[in-house]
Amino acid sequence: MQAATLGGILLISAIVLFVLALFSFFRRRIAGAWSFALLLLAMVIHSVGYAFELMSQTKVEMVNWLRFEYIGIAFFPFLVFLFASQYSDERKIANRWVRTMIFTMNFITFLLVVTNGQHYLYYQSMDVVESYGMQVLSLPRGIWGNMQHLILIAVLVYAIVEMVKKLRNSEGVYKTRSRCMVIGMMVPLFIYSIYVIGMGPSAIDIMPFSYVLMSVLIGIGLFRFDILLMTPITYQMIFESIDEGVLVVDRNGLIIRVNDAAKGYFSSLMALKDGSEISAVTELMDFDFEEGQSQIEVGSKIFDTKRIQADNGRGMIYVFKDVTRAETNKRKLEIMATIDPLTGIQNRRVFMEKLEDAPAGVFAILDLDHFKEINDQKGHQEGDRILRVFAQNMRDHYSFQQVCRYGGEEFAIFYPKETLETAHQSLEEFRRFCIEEKIGVVFSAGMAEYQSGQINLAILKADQKLYRAKEAGRNRIQI
Ligand code: GH3
Ligand code: MG
Ligand code: MG
Repeated sequence: MQAATLGGILLISAIVLFVLALFSFFRRRIAGAWSFALLLLAMVIHSVGYAFELMSQTKVEMVNWLRFEYIGIAFFPFLVFLFASQYSDERKIANRWVRTMIFTMNFITFLLVVTNGQHYLYYQSMDVVESYGMQVLSLPRGIWGNMQHLILIAVLVYAIVEMVKKLRNSEGVYKTRSRCMVIGMMVPLFIYSIYVIGMGPSAIDIMPFSYVLMSVLIGIGLFRFDILLMTPITYQMIFESIDEGVLVVDRNGLIIRVNDAAKGYFSSLMALKDGSEISAVTELMDFDFEEGQSQIEVGSKIFDTKRIQADNGRGMIYVFKDVTRAETNKRKLEIMATIDPLTGIQNRRVFMEKLEDAPAGVFAILDLDHFKEINDQKGHQEGDRILRVFAQNMRDHYSFQQVCRYGGEEFAIFYPKETLETAHQSLEEFRRFCIEEKIGVVFSAGMAEYQSGQINLAILKADQKLYRAKEAGRNRIQI
């Protein structure tokens, strides 16, 4: 009578657990739901098996149902481990090796229970005894039984620790959710402790009677808060909707995932399938995937790039942010700050700045002769044109770095590491060139040696010489 009541309770509980398992299975997009469904199925098997074990009349029947129960029970540690790691997204402890090891040990448990009669490694003995007026199996644990027991306790501790960690990191409904999970996971540990302190009914397993309580608590945690159903979808939405192009690449350089923005930026991605080599992205041929680089130009676009190591070194995430607008503006400003708009050569500011840390050399100031007259006779526009032509000739004759527009119709040249004689020779050549080419203007110039760090002195000297060149009749160079 009593056995039938208990059996009935267990069967009803098994139905509840089974419904919950189906429910979980259909919500398997929630992190942990899939392995929770498996865990529930294992509980269903245990409950059904134990119901019939309790209601069995003979020892053979009892042992057969016991074996059936272990199809579920044997894998509890593995399933709890899987569930906890999936739910908490923990991968350091729950790596492939630990998972495989736990599964293997659980499988050995199953084999040892089925064949226990031959070796008694799992249970020391299997005798029928009377407890609370019922005929039940007394099953003192053997070596492997203790082993399985320890693994289960370790795994439950792991699960609780991970869930408490999650609880600490959550707020509001997420906190309530985590609390349900932690309390749910505490139930089996609590039942174990009852046995450990010797208060449990002898030879009767009360664990299956706690399954519904435990599962409902965990189920509430997992499923009550609908927002969580959104989580994987939300990640997906974020991934697809951000403006940054994202490429996820595995450690062998194969593309795992790309988002729409990346396909928009690098059109060769459209034709590539997941699993293609990253080197097949023709637009990124020059990109250093190994080391990463902070910026890359692809066609007319400029990207700031970021390289993020995926956890466990299993791959890399590359983020490409289109900064074309900002970068071209920045470059324009840089040009505006350094280049003279009329002539396109360096302005005085940047030229002098560079001179401050230049080694010794020769500094020359050039002033176009009678430029006011040119303006007056031919017009200001023609004056501008002549300034441009003169500047272009200087640039061609020297280098971009060496020359600058010093002021109105004044220019400067720097001759690094040259002596006054060689520099003078060079400028004299240029002066004659200007005359021969009839560019429409001639110049006077003053030259002075420059000692590193003494630019003002060099300017002063060159200026004085220029004045003397003008005084002496113009169209000449004074050193
Ligand atoms: P000198 O031989 O003594 O140097 O005679 P100059 O006429 O060149 O000397 P001055 O310094 O009196 O005149 C310089 C002239 O250069 C005055 C100014 O109108 C002209 N000038 C300065 N900047 C520009 C410019 O950007 N465009 C044009 N067209 N003329 C300019
Ligand atoms: Mg002048
Ligand atoms: Mg002049």
